[in-house]
Amino acid sequence: MALGVLQETIETIAVIGAGTMGHGIAQVAAAAGFRVLLSDVDRESLVRGVRKIESNLAKGIQLGKLTEDDRDRALQHIHGTTKLEECADGDLIIEAAPEKLVLKREVLRQLEAASDRPFIFASNTSSLSITAIASSSKRPEAVIGMHFFNPVHIMRLVEIVVGEKTSGETVEAVRNVALKMRKEPIVVKDVPGFASSRLGVVLGLEAMRMVEQGVASVQDIDTAMELGYNHPMGPLKLTDLVGLDVRLNIAEYLYRELGSEAFRPPEVLRRMVREGKLGKKTGEGFYDWSKEKEDARRAQSS
Ligand code: NAD
Repeated sequence: MALGVLQETIETIAVIGAGTMGHGIAQVAAAAGFRVLLSDVDRESLVRGVRKIESNLAKGIQLGKLTEDDRDRALQHIHGTTKLEECADGDLIIEAAPEKLVLKREVLRQLEAASDRPFIFASNTSSLSITAIASSSKRPEAVIGMHFFNPVHIMRLVEIVVGEKTSGETVEAVRNVALKMRKEPIVVKDVPGFASSRLGVVLGLEAMRMVEQGVASVQDIDTAMELGYNHPMGPLKLTDLVGLDVRLNIAEYLYRELGSEAFRPPEVLRRMVREGKLGKKTGEGFYDWSKEKEDARRAQSS
């Protein structure tokens, strides 16, 4: 079936959700020259997302990676909105709303109801099934996974996840967008956890079980992976950056889907989420991030 959105015709990218991932996706899309609609249901989150983009770009200038012109051009490309239906103007819609299947399906349903224009819908889900997200879509051939990594403006991988009905044309279109964003795309079948989360989550959960068992300190467990296996960051610090709540959701889902004990969420993870210790974003996780949180607050209010 003809898609109606050819890769050459992707000019506008709409990003749904301006949180940890959405603002970063909007930034790299704008830097690649696309017109960007960045949306969030929550006005404050939208404003926060745009401020984060500004501060990332300012840092890029400080580090000599960007010019002031690059920054101005990127910012001019980004338009914020709290109205989801405006995003149906996108040729490619990248959804970065919370990791809930019902929510992602509902977002897609509302976009399809808002406009008959054909668009590609790419979910940034870390683990949910693309086929399930697409199951009530009018055009499942145009639904795909585009899994970016945190922080989006720095991490090079994009995992392209191909659902049962995703067309080859859709795969090619988003692969080309990822390349324009200067990312390295890999193409993966739609299986729970894809390639990256399935391996990454198991390592993080095992590290948490080691903390529970007192095998070593948080820092030493991370150092084992950093120096022994050349990982740029240990699994517990990475969990703090991803967010403990995000990790818990993914672990519960993979445990249900794959039935392996390796994915059973450890009690320490459940307890910390209950206590609101969600990692860097709340100032506390396996590490103390209160200083970073205070610095970020100061940077935003100045
Ligand atoms: P987040 O909580 O930081 O941001 C989600 C944003 O979506 C919030 O600002 C929220 O207000 C907004 N939102 C909620 N409902 C919405 C709706 N109906 N329409 C528009 N906006 C809505 O979450 P995140 O960490 O950015 O995760 C987003 C997605 O990306 C999830 O599917 C997650 O699994 C995936 N992901 C996260 C990471 C990570 O490291 N955090 C990495 C890869 C993929």
